Amino acid sequence: MKLANISFRNVMNGIYIISNIRNYKKSQFKSQDELKKIQADKLKSILFEAVHNVPFYSHLKAEINFKEFSLAELEKFPIVNKKIIKENYDKFLSQQYRHKKLAFKATSGSSGEPFKVPKAFYSDGIEQCMMFRAWSMNPAYNYHFRDPCIVLRSYSPEPGELPYKVDKIMNYWYLSPFDINDKNIELYYDYILRSKAKIIRAYPSSLYILTLYLEKHNLKLPQIRTLFTSSENLLPLYRNKIQEYWNLPLIDWYGQNERTAIAQMCEYGIYHNNDEYGIIELDDNGQIIATSLNNNVMPLIRYATNDLAQPSTIQHCKCGRGLSIPFQSIDGRADDLLTKNDDSIVATVNIYNAMEKYQYIKQFRIIQNSDKSIVLELASSIELTTSMIHQIENELLIRLGNVPVSTHIVDEIERDRKTGKIKSIISNVKM
Ligand SMILES: [Zn+2]
Repeated sequence: MKLANISFRNVMNGIYIISNIRNYKKSQFKSQDELKKIQADKLKSILFEAVHNVPFYSHLKAEINFKEFSLAELEKFPIVNKKIIKENYDKFLSQQYRHKKLAFKATSGSSGEPFKVPKAFYSDGIEQCMMFRAWSMNPAYNYHFRDPCIVLRSYSPEPGELPYKVDKIMNYWYLSPFDINDKNIELYYDYILRSKAKIIRAYPSSLYILTLYLEKHNLKLPQIRTLFTSSENLLPLYRNKIQEYWNLPLIDWYGQNERTAIAQMCEYGIYHNNDEYGIIELDDNGQIIATSLNNNVMPLIRYATNDLAQPSTIQHCKCGRGLSIPFQSIDGRADDLLTKNDDSIVATVNIYNAMEKYQYIKQFRIIQNSDKSIVLELASSIELTTSMIHQIENELLIRLGNVPVSTHIVDEIERDRKTGKIKSIISNVKM
């Protein structure tokens, strides 16, 4: 049933948000034990659905102890990945939904073919609640529905179009991440003032570039309370500059298109898992293994995300949230790791650390070709001499071994026209 392009499902999801957002904002402060209990109850129901209605898991029916259930039962399930699910797609669908009309969240990903995961009925509502909760994680600003919000992402104007547009229904004030430059910075600044927004949502790279221009033109925006980034890797270079300039909590969000688990930073810069939403484990390689607690249509259980993270050394955060701390930082996609001349793999964190020494490098991109040679793109705030370039190249060679490097100086690193994002490390080496 559709009315003015709004479906019954959308209306119900809207009602879900209104009815649940306050509870979600409260439940993040429950104790770790209470949250574990919520997690165990939700997991039990998902695993029950899986062994009884999902053919791929039917052999585990007798294995799982539903009578004395604990979170440890999860470990009896195998780790699965995109390839396994694609090859056995129908076997991963719950029989309950097999002949029903499914709604999908399309996932493109940066590599490979699209992978479509069917959504649970309230998937969009739950996702939005997590989002609104994250936007409110700075105690100095509690986001309410239809508060003005600057969105420095997702908008890619056609030639001749203005670099901004307002979505009046959501009160989202879009700014193009493609057009932040000397010519437009005053316009961007006035637009942000006019919006009265207290929150900026952006890609890490677009917020970083905005910050550089605001600083250069000596423009301050004291109305802003919260900075929120997602969809790209938050490089230390970006994070340091953003925090130095704004001196505000930066909430960085990690999730996947498959909607298995979400983590975001609190006001203290610590990543918290949304325990009511998903479960995060790290395998021996630091890969994030995620389990959705909401998708009963296609249960994604111990799904290998291909994203790598550094394990956390702490279990409690001073923010007082009971939400668990799944990792310390995110390294990025496993398929975008660089390969050394001896074929060993180099964690991206080493490269970021190396580049961080050169504070005058505004942006960089490293592309590794299939023959392991490196193309290095550098955008610098000062004129680079040949010896400075050699020094940076050497820094990379220390980590990558003796591979050919060619360096290109650019004004800025170009965004992907389709996604609007910037990938700082791209590997074309076949693993
Ligand atoms: Zn915290």
